[in-house]
Amino acid sequence: MNNKHIIIAGAGLGGLASALRLAVKGYTVEIIEKNAQAGGRLNQLIKDGYTFDTGPSFFSMSYIFEEFAKDCNIKLPFDYVALDPLYSVNFKNNPKTYYLYKDIHKLSAQFQDVEPNFETRIIKYLQKSGRLFHDTLGPVIKKNFDSLPEYLLSLMQVRAVHLPVLLRSFWKQVALNFSSKEARQIISLVSFFLGQTPFDTMAVYTLLSYTEFMHDGYYNVEGGMYKIVKGLLEELKKYHVKITFNTEIIEAVPKGNNVAYLVDRESKKWEADVFLINADAAVFRGKVFKRKRYSEERLDRMKWTTGYLTMYVGIKCKLPQINYHSYFLGNNFEEYANNILQNPEILEQPYYYVNVVSKHNTDCAPEGCESLFFVCPVPNLLYKPDWSDKEKIADSILEDFSQRIKFNIKPEVVSRTIYTPLDWQNQFNLHRGSGLGLAHNMRQIGYFRPPNYDEEYKNVFYTGASTIPGTGLPMVIISSDLACRRIFKYLS
Ligand SMILES: Cc1cc2nc3c(=O)[nH]c(=O)nc-3n(C[C@H](O)[C@H](O)[C@H](O)COP(=O)(O)OP(=O)(O)OC[C@H]3O[C@@H](n4cnc5c(N)ncnc54)[C@H](O)[C@@H]3O)c2cc1C
Repeated sequence: MNNKHIIIAGAGLGGLASALRLAVKGYTVEIIEKNAQAGGRLNQLIKDGYTFDTGPSFFSMSYIFEEFAKDCNIKLPFDYVALDPLYSVNFKNNPKTYYLYKDIHKLSAQFQDVEPNFETRIIKYLQKSGRLFHDTLGPVIKKNFDSLPEYLLSLMQVRAVHLPVLLRSFWKQVALNFSSKEARQIISLVSFFLGQTPFDTMAVYTLLSYTEFMHDGYYNVEGGMYKIVKGLLEELKKYHVKITFNTEIIEAVPKGNNVAYLVDRESKKWEADVFLINADAAVFRGKVFKRKRYSEERLDRMKWTTGYLTMYVGIKCKLPQINYHSYFLGNNFEEYANNILQNPEILEQPYYYVNVVSKHNTDCAPEGCESLFFVCPVPNLLYKPDWSDKEKIADSILEDFSQRIKFNIKPEVVSRTIYTPLDWQNQFNLHRGSGLGLAHNMRQIGYFRPPNYDEEYKNVFYTGASTIPGTGLPMVIISSDLACRRIFKYLS
C-alpha cells in the first residue's frame, strides 16, 4: 500500500481510467465530480422507459482499451461485438443508401456505379493511411513531451514521406485519391469525429480511415456505451476509490510550488499530495487557476471544435429499415461543412447522424419500441449563443428523417429531449459548448496542446480530451496513461 493521496477533479473517462491506473499501483485515490453521475460526456439518460447514451456512440480502436485492461491487470469490464456494416450513408434526393463494410470487395461494390476503380483506389489510400498510423502512434501519439526540441525530434522520427500530409487538408488528401463526390464525402466523414470538418482538418488525420476500414472498425458495446462507465465504476469499487458527486472545484490554494488544496463551491477544502485534473485542461487553467494565458478572451481566440445539437427520441414502434449508425447528408456538402462552425442559418437544412441504440441493445427501449439518438454538428456558442430555436431545428430533423426513411415517425414519438451547446457547456464546463474540446490544428496538438503537467504547480497533472494526445475515447484512454506516467515519475 502506498500512502500518497491523489485527488482527481472530474469523473469523465479520463478521470475514471486514471483512477484505476493509480489505484492498482496502491495509491489512495478520490474523485470529485461536478455532476450527479459519473462518465462526463460518456453519459446516459434514462427517461420515459427509454435508455440513451448521451455522447459517444462509436466504439473504436478497441486494442487501446485492451492495453489499458492489461496495464491494470483486469479483464475489460464490458463486452463489445464488431459491427458490419460499420455505418450507412444516405444523400438527399438519392434513393440509394451506402453501406460501409470492412470487407473491401463488398465496400467497393457500393461505389461501382460512381467510381468503377474504387477498390484499387481505396487499397492505395488505406495503405498510405496505415503507414501514417503506424509511423505516428508510437513516436508521437503515445508520448509525453518535456520540451519543444524533444517534440520536434519525435516528429523527425516520422518518415519524411509523410511531410505533405502536414501541409494539406483531409479533403485534399481524399480528393487526390477519389474522384466521385460520393466517395470523397463518405471517406471524409470520419474527420467530423474530431469535431472539425474535412476542410479544416489536417490530412495527417486520414490515419483515422485506416482505423475504421482496415485496422479495427467499430463495435457495439453490449448494453450501450454507458456500460464502459459502469464497468469501470465496479473496478474502482474493488479499490475503495471514493467518488463525491455534485461537487464543483472553483478555486485552488497554493503552497510554494504546489497546490495545497482545491476548494469547491460550498467552500470545502480538498487536500492531497497530487491533483489530477480531468476537467477541460484549458478551461480549468483559466477558470480555477486564473491563468491569463487561458482567460475567457484568450480561450475565445483558440480554435475549438463544433458544438452539437443532440436529440434523444423514444418511439413506440420498430425501425428495422434503419442501420445502427446512419448518416443523412444533404447536397451541399462543401458549403455546409465550410459554414457549419460559423453560420447558424445553415441549420435550416441540417446534416445529421442517427444511432438506433436499441437495435443491438434491446434493453434500451420497451418491447416493440426504439431509442434513437440524433447528433447534428452546429456552431458553438461563440457563433450562435441563442438556442431558443432548438425545437424548430429538432422538428426539421425529424421531418427530414421521416422523408428519407419514407415513414412519418413524428406521431410515434413518446419521449424527446434536446441538448444544445448551452447544455453541453453548463453540464461539463465545455468552453462555448464546444463538444469535443480544443480543435486539432498544428498549433494545438503535441507540444502545443495544453500540457498534461501544470506549468506552475509541480503536483498538478491533467488528463482528458483537451490535453495530449487529443479527443475521442481511445485518445482519452491514452491520455490517462500519459498523465499517470508523469505522476508515477513525480511520486518516485
Ligand atoms: C455529442 C458527442 C458525441 C461524441 N461521440 C464520440 C464517439 O462516437 N466516439 C468517441 O470516441 N468519442 C466521442 N465523443 C468524444 C468523447 O465523448 C470525449 O472525447 C470524451 O468523453 C472526453 O472525456 P474526458 O474525460 O476528457 O472529459 P469529460 O467527459 O468532459 O469529463 C470531464 C469531467 O469533469 C467534470 N468537471 C468539469 N469541471 C469540473 C470542476 N470544476 N470540478 C469538478 N468536476 C468537473 C465534468 O462534469 C466531467 O464529468 C463525443 C462527444 C460528444 C459531445
